[in-house]
Amino acid sequence: MKIRITNVEIFMLKHAGTTSPYGPYKPVVVKVNTDTGIYGLGEAGVSMGIGEHALAGMLMDIAPYYIGRNPMDNEVIWEEMRTKINGHISGGGAVYYGSLSAFDTALTDIKGKALNIPVYQLLGGKQNADLRCYYSMMQAGTGGDLSPRGTAEEYAQTAEKIMNAGFDAAKIAPLYFDRDKSVLGDRRIVTPLTSYSLNLMEERLKAIRDVGGKGFDIIVEYFCSLDSRSAIQADAVAARYGVFYCEEPVLPMKRKLFKSLHENTHVPLATGEKIHTRWQYSDLFEDSSVDIIQPDISNCGGISETKKICDMAHIYGVKAQIHIAGTPIATAAALQVEAAIPNFFIHEYFYLNEAAEYADYCTCDYKPVNGKIKVPDLPGIGQDLSDKAVAEALSHIVID
Ligand code: MG
Repeated sequence: MKIRITNVEIFMLKHAGTTSPYGPYKPVVVKVNTDTGIYGLGEAGVSMGIGEHALAGMLMDIAPYYIGRNPMDNEVIWEEMRTKINGHISGGGAVYYGSLSAFDTALTDIKGKALNIPVYQLLGGKQNADLRCYYSMMQAGTGGDLSPRGTAEEYAQTAEKIMNAGFDAAKIAPLYFDRDKSVLGDRRIVTPLTSYSLNLMEERLKAIRDVGGKGFDIIVEYFCSLDSRSAIQADAVAARYGVFYCEEPVLPMKRKLFKSLHENTHVPLATGEKIHTRWQYSDLFEDSSVDIIQPDISNCGGISETKKICDMAHIYGVKAQIHIAGTPIATAAALQVEAAIPNFFIHEYFYLNEAAEYADYCTCDYKPVNGKIKVPDLPGIGQDLSDKAVAEALSHIVID
C-alpha cells in the first residue's frame, strides 16, 4: 500500500489545570498527515510539567526524517532512527525516545486507519477484551475531588469512593503527602525511613485494607525514592497488608541493587516507565529481577516497540501493565497493546482521566465500567484530538 507522509504538526496542549512541583502539565502531541487524507496521532510522554519544549524541539528536529516516507514501513523507519543514536544523539535518552515513540504510535495509527482495522489486529488480535483496571494515584484524590489526601480517615474515604466506582484495585504513593497534605520531601524521602514515615505508610495501608477487605488489591508506588535498606523496611510494612505489587523502590538502572531487592523482598516488583526499548529492558529479564513491567508507550519506543518489549517479558514469565500518565491519546494506544498481549496484567487508570480538562483533549473518553475497560474496535488507536484542544493549543508548529 502506497501512502506518503506529507507534513507533521506538533502541538503543545493547553495545561490541564494540574500542576507538578515544576509547573502545569502541557502534553506534547504529534499529528502525522499523509497524501491520502488519513492522519495519525501519537503522544510524547516524558513531560510532567517540565521538558515540554525539549520534546517539541526534538519532534521538530526529527520530523524531516519522516516526511516523504510510507507509514506502512514504521518498523523500518524505527530501526533507522534507532541507529541514528550511535554517535549522533548520545545514546538516545528520554527526549529522543519520547519523540520516536510519538511518531511510531502515529504511524501505527495511520496503518490501522488505512486498513480500516483497530491496531490490536495489526498486533495479532484481541487476546483480552475487557481489561481489569486499577485506580492510579489515590493519594491525589478521586470522585470529583482531585486534591491531596492526608489523614488515614481520608484514605479510607477515598478507598470507599474508588470501590463504589467499581474498582477492586488502586495504587497509592503512601509517602507522597504528609498528614497535613504538604508534599513530603518532594519525592526525596529521607532514608533510611524514620519511624514517622513507616507509621505514615502503615496507617494508610491499614485504612485502605480495612475498607477494601481481602479482595481489594493495593499497589504501592515509591517513585525510586528509597535505598537498599529502606526498600526492605518498606517491604515489611507492605507485606503485612498483602500489597499486590510495589512500583520502583529504586531506579531500575541500578541493576545490581534492583536484583538484590528482588531477592530480598517479598512483595512483587514493578518498573519500566523510566527505561526505553528492548535494549534497556533486557537486563531486567536476564536478571529475573522484575515481576511486572510498565513500559510507557509514549517514551519506550511507541506501539511497535512496546509490543516487542511485552513479548520479551512473556518469555521470562513477566507480566505487563502499560504505564499511563498522559492524555486520552496515551490511554487509547495502551488499550490497543494491552488487548493484544497474552501477558497483560492490569490497566492503569490514571487519576487525571477524572479531570474534565483531560477528557476534553480528545473525542473519545475511555472510562472503566465496573472496574473494567472495554477495548474499542475503531480503526487505528481509536482516538482523535478535539477541536477545543487544537483551538486552545499553546503552540502549533507545522513541519513540511
Ligand atoms: Mg510510577
